[in-house]
Formats: sequence, C-alpha cells, structure tokens
Amino acid sequence: RAKELGGGRVEVYAAHMHTDVVRRLELGADLQRALAEEQFAVEFQPVVELDTSRVTGVEALVRWWRGSESVPPQDFIRPAEESGLMITLGDWVLRQACRQVARWRAESWQVDLSVNFTARQIAAPRFVESVAQVLEETGLPPQALTVEVTEAVLVEDAGQTVERLSALRELGVRLAIDDFGTGYASLAHLGRLPVDVIKIDPSFVAGLGRDETRTLLTRAIVRLGHDLGLTVVAEGIERPEQLELLRQMNCPRGQGFLVARPMAPGPAESLLRTNLTTVQDTVPDDSGEP
Ligand code: C2E
Ligand code: MG
Ligand code: MG
Ligand code: MG
Repeated sequence: RAKELGGGRVEVYAAHMHTDVVRRLELGADLQRALAEEQFAVEFQPVVELDTSRVTGVEALVRWWRGSESVPPQDFIRPAEESGLMITLGDWVLRQACRQVARWRAESWQVDLSVNFTARQIAAPRFVESVAQVLEETGLPPQALTVEVTEAVLVEDAGQTVERLSALRELGVRLAIDDFGTGYASLAHLGRLPVDVIKIDPSFVAGLGRDETRTLLTRAIVRLGHDLGLTVVAEGIERPEQLELLRQMNCPRGQGFLVARPMAPGPAESLLRTNLTTVQDTVPDDSGEP
C-alpha cells in the first residue's frame, strides 16, 4: 500500500516535470516565432523629478503581444534566457529604445533612457561592444543611457559582470541598481561598485505612511543615496500620500502608476509634449491594443 502510494507520487511528480518541460519548449518555440513575427514592443515609463513633476527620462519595458493579450515580462524573460533568445531580444529592445529616445532628444526633449539587463545578457560575448555599437548607430549619447541591473547581478558577479559594466561606464553609460533594498550585502558592495543610480524597490514605497519601518527605511535609503552622491529613484508610486512623503524626504526622482504608466511610443510622446504627468486624465492606461 505504502509502496503503491510512493510510486503514485513519483508518477505525479514526473508528469508534472514533463508538462513543465513541454511548456518550456512550446514557449521557446513561441518566442522564436514572436521575434520573427515582430510581436514584441517596447513601452516607456516616464521617470520624473518629484519636486517639479518634470520628466527626466523613461524606462524601456519590453512587451510581448501574443494575439491580443500582453504577456508579462516575468513570464517570458526566464524562458527567453533558457532558450537562448534573450540576447537577441535584449539587443532588439536596446536598439528600439535608443532609436526612439534619440529621436525625442532631436525634438529637444532632454530625456534619458533606462534599459534593464539580466546577468546572462551582460555575460554575452561582445556585450560591451554591442552596446557601444547600438549607441553609435542610433546617435544616443552614452551619457543618456542608464543600464539597470538588480543587486544580485552585481553581487554574484558571474562572467566578469562588474568589469564589463565598468567598461561601459568608461564610455559614459550610467549604472543603476534596480529593486534596491531587496538583495543581500547591498550596503557592503555599494562603495566598491561603479553605481550612479539606486532605484528603491516598490515594496518600500508601498509601505510609506502605512508601515513605520518601511517608511523609516525609505527615508534612510534616500539619505544614503544623497550622501553617496547617487541619484535616487523611488519606484512603484501609486498613492498621493506616497508621493507627498517622498517629496518631504527630498527623494529626487520617482516612477509609478500615479505619475505615469508604461506606454507605447505615441502616447509617451504626447506626454513629453505636454509634460502633464501628474494629471491622471491625460495618462493612458496600458490595457489598450499594441
Ligand atoms: P523593473 O525593471 O523593476 O520595472 C518596473 C516594473 O514595475 C515594470 O513591470 C512596471 O510596469 C512596473 N511598475 C511601474 N510602476 C508601477 C506601479 O506604480 N505599481 C506597480 N504595481 N507596478 C509598477 P514590467 O514591465 O512587468 O516588468 C517587470 C520586470 O521585467 C522589470 O522590473 C524588469 O526586471 C523586467 N524587464 C522588463 N523589460 C525588460 C527588458 O527589456 N529586458 C530585461 N532584461 N528585463 C526587463
Ligand atoms: Mg528596471
Ligand atoms: Mg525595479
Ligand atoms: Mg523588478
């Protein structure tokens, strides 16, 4: 009886593994097709100076329009890495985003651009050269580009990550630590890493005014960033109270649905034209068609 049960469990486990593998293979094939059929798009979420609400830059966020539904990056970035497509996809995102922002700057909107990178993207052969090449091709000045990585990417430092990011920084590219405060050993590493920007994780911002510890921690991160001469960006601002508290803490920059959602290039351009980020009615939501 016990043996039967045990056997059954193994079978269930194996079946589960099987569907997992099949799903991953299917997703890999879907992603390949998606690249070929241009189902990917880049959206831009404005980053503002909190004092003035002036847009200082945009963060590029990849979107996969699979039919009429948008698949969240968290559901396809890892599969894209596992199927080896992330390098190609990341390269495409970078090129699209740099081209778009270079155009906006040519219209004399002095916005800068942030792009997210995974450890594997940075470990790709010729990573530094390929970023430099995209900058040259699109005409975006290196100083206008910020590379965003999570703490884990820097701390693990697989494949000479820090060396490569330092090389990019020599070119003038800036470096941001994304989701700051959620990784480990972040403080010990801050002094040794070539960082320009810290982005406070939304979990801190979510607690502002509601959770005393998170409020104090947010204030401490803002001070820390200021004292280290880093630009601090608060992420995930959704409520007016959070915005108010961040302003009181002298947090220089912010990003979040309250300020502006990620949006397609057209709407993002309208927003740059009017700069009306804090007026809710002018901010399109991201549930529309691609
Ligand atoms: P991230 O870099 O931390 O990006 C911020 C995420 O928070 C985005 O989710 C954005 O839509 C979301 N967000 C912004 N404001 C708010 C808010 O007020 N409330 C809430 N609840 N969410 C907000 P998204 O676009 O789903 O991206 C998730 C993650 O996927 C990103 O986190 C980034 O790590 C990764 N990612 C997105 N695009 C790319 C890309 O092109 N390349 C790479 N390597 N990773 C990407
Ligand atoms: Mg980011
Ligand atoms: Mg983040
Ligand atoms: Mg994140």
